[in-house]
Amino acid sequence: MKTAMENRLLLLMLVGIVAGGVSGYVWGESMQSVAWLGELFLTTLKMLIVPLVAASVITGVAGLGDVRKLGRMGGYSVAYYACTTFLAVSIGLVMANLWQPGVGVSLSDNLTAPTPGVGDVGLTDLVLSLVNPNIIAAAADMKLLPIIVFCIAFAAALSTLGERGQPVVRFFEGLNEAMMKLVEWVMVFAPIGVFALIASKLGAAGGGDAFFAQLAGLAKYALAVISGLLTHALALSLILLLLARRSIMEYLKHMAAALMTAFSTASSSATLPMTLEGVKNAGVPENSRRFVLPLGATINMDGTALYEAVAVLFIAQAYALDLGFGQQMVVLLTATMAAIGAAGIPEAGLVTMVIVLEAVGLPLEGIGLILAIDWFLDRCRTTINVYGDSVGAAVVGRLTGNRHFSD
Ligand code: ASP
Repeated sequence: MKTAMENRLLLLMLVGIVAGGVSGYVWGESMQSVAWLGELFLTTLKMLIVPLVAASVITGVAGLGDVRKLGRMGGYSVAYYACTTFLAVSIGLVMANLWQPGVGVSLSDNLTAPTPGVGDVGLTDLVLSLVNPNIIAAAADMKLLPIIVFCIAFAAALSTLGERGQPVVRFFEGLNEAMMKLVEWVMVFAPIGVFALIASKLGAAGGGDAFFAQLAGLAKYALAVISGLLTHALALSLILLLLARRSIMEYLKHMAAALMTAFSTASSSATLPMTLEGVKNAGVPENSRRFVLPLGATINMDGTALYEAVAVLFIAQAYALDLGFGQQMVVLLTATMAAIGAAGIPEAGLVTMVIVLEAVGLPLEGIGLILAIDWFLDRCRTTINVYGDSVGAAVVGRLTGNRHFSD
């Protein structure tokens, strides 16, 4: 996208977010009248996801040529995801220990909400979620992980066919270009979309006063999560600077539209089209962005991992249970797993938190304590999830690019 247009769009999106916040504050419930506009924006983004993910992963992997390069890209990506997620949970643990947000919280008032109904989710379930017996059904249900796994295998198979595979690769290249064009068109609508999403959500939360009351009630907890997320954003920026050797400001400018969309939609999957566009504008090599971003949107969730750690410690503190070092290590491992297992949709992290609570033996009802403010923290953590993915694309792009030239 042309820079002048990009700048104008960013400005309009910023205006959309601010105007949405103000309108939701002032007019509260009546802002439901614009909810359909936000829904329209979200649905249009979602409509693009499956063809975009398929085309982007297939062309990304097929473009690597040599299957050994796939191994290298996969290796770097997984190493990046793992290291940054661990870092995020560690920051979350430090913040929760520093702020002690749950100490002195009264339990009886808040424990009204029921626990989200999920069964046990273990490591084997995570592995099983990689494949689906019916790829069309997976696409229809927007289960991205099995689609990605299928597309990686499919593209690897294509690359072994030589000339005969080329028409199929070119087909997916064309599909990918067309999908990116559609993303550009949808982006024009983004300022109105983010305005409507923010205004109607803030309005539904009872307008400004109720929102601030929620925030004040859980102020320490919200501050612990937000300061953790900001610290992690800083760490990611340093990684961007040192490992990917990119200017932080320049990169943030290209990513701003995607980050604002993440904040407004609370869904990294729905934001994926915008993330791909932003990273493309930032000049990240094609193969890495097409590989790292779709996978990252589904399994790399730094913000979610960090939030789960803070939330679980908060709940433990509220129950006056002191989690020792060993148990905090259990939180470290399970929060990482829970973040991998969370889908890129609103409130997914709240549901997979059950894994962490169960692992340290905390009552699941504890989730009721944090429900009121979760819709807001969800937006904050989703923004960091998307930032983490985009930094990953730049880092993997640089690491594999260097090796590529010396091959
Ligand atoms: N909403 C987050 C996302 O889409 C997932 C979560 O609930 O933490 O990235």
